[in-house]
Amino acid sequence: MKPDALLYPTPKGLFCEVGQFYVDPVQPVDRALITHGHADHARSGHGHVLATRETLDIMRIRYGEDFCNSEQVAALGEKLVINGATVSFHPAGHVLGSAQIAVEAQGTRIVVSGDYKRRRDPTCLPFEPVACDVFITEATFGLPVFHHPDDRLEVAKVLTSLRQFPERAHLVGAYALGKAQRVIALLREAGHEAPIYIHGALVKLCDYYQSQGYDLGDLRPATLVGHDRQVFAGAIVIGPPSAFADKWARRFPDPVSIFASGWMLVRQRAKQRGVELPMIISDHCDWPELTRTILEIAPGQVWVTHGREEALVRWCELQGIAARPLHLVGYDDEGE
Ligand SMILES: [Zn+2]
Repeated sequence: MKPDALLYPTPKGLFCEVGQFYVDPVQPVDRALITHGHADHARSGHGHVLATRETLDIMRIRYGEDFCNSEQVAALGEKLVINGATVSFHPAGHVLGSAQIAVEAQGTRIVVSGDYKRRRDPTCLPFEPVACDVFITEATFGLPVFHHPDDRLEVAKVLTSLRQFPERAHLVGAYALGKAQRVIALLREAGHEAPIYIHGALVKLCDYYQSQGYDLGDLRPATLVGHDRQVFAGAIVIGPPSAFADKWARRFPDPVSIFASGWMLVRQRAKQRGVELPMIISDHCDWPELTRTILEIAPGQVWVTHGREEALVRWCELQGIAARPLHLVGYDDEGE
């Protein structure tokens, strides 16, 4: 079967005609397969949702019990037949529960990687390469200039600042799903045992990670009720980036503004956000990881979903691998 008959882009998202399902649809559909819990991939209002147990749990936490009509757990590595297509889920290394989805029919296999990374992440399973005819990849950091440093160095920068400025609160902006928990786990690995204060928007997801066996240590609410302002002096406080724009951030003593994002390697972006201490930690592949992954999987074709498609498409062609951009709309990893 021709790959572009097995899976093709539509305004609602990638559609598998043989299986009559969409992968990460951006509008409500009857049958959706979801790669991971980030809001641009996992939306509410679908009829039937197939995803890993963790992704279903995360959707429930974010959208409530009625996030879809019916749900089904996809166990990693297990093959499921949907109409005429066979699908299986494999770890993507992006956030807890994240999976690549392999779609197969009549001898053709396409792997939709969703979002993924190759770095070690103490809060999720590592990416697993799956042989395929077509590998669908994102290209958020798909330019040769994008190299992310070792995240342990980035964590060490924060701990050094904490020692230098023990009177200042260290305010870390990090996305509520994945990034926040990874930053906390990395701080713990680096020996930071003190309580970490978290914004209310992170509580349920951090609790969920802890319930799944990911030890995040002593987490406390970053509310001032019943607290002396000075509690936060020399403490690490983590909140979603959106909280930094409002009054919430102004209640901490002389805060050091930190932002954990792959985009922090672009100095201009850090400056625009008023970030004093950029923490370059990404849940996406940088350029060397993207290209190494493609060489390792050695697919017949590469389709690029979102990000900087052109450079990656060109690079594939130079390697003798057919490639094209998919021009999918509705995915946004600007914030990653
Ligand atoms: Zn994502």
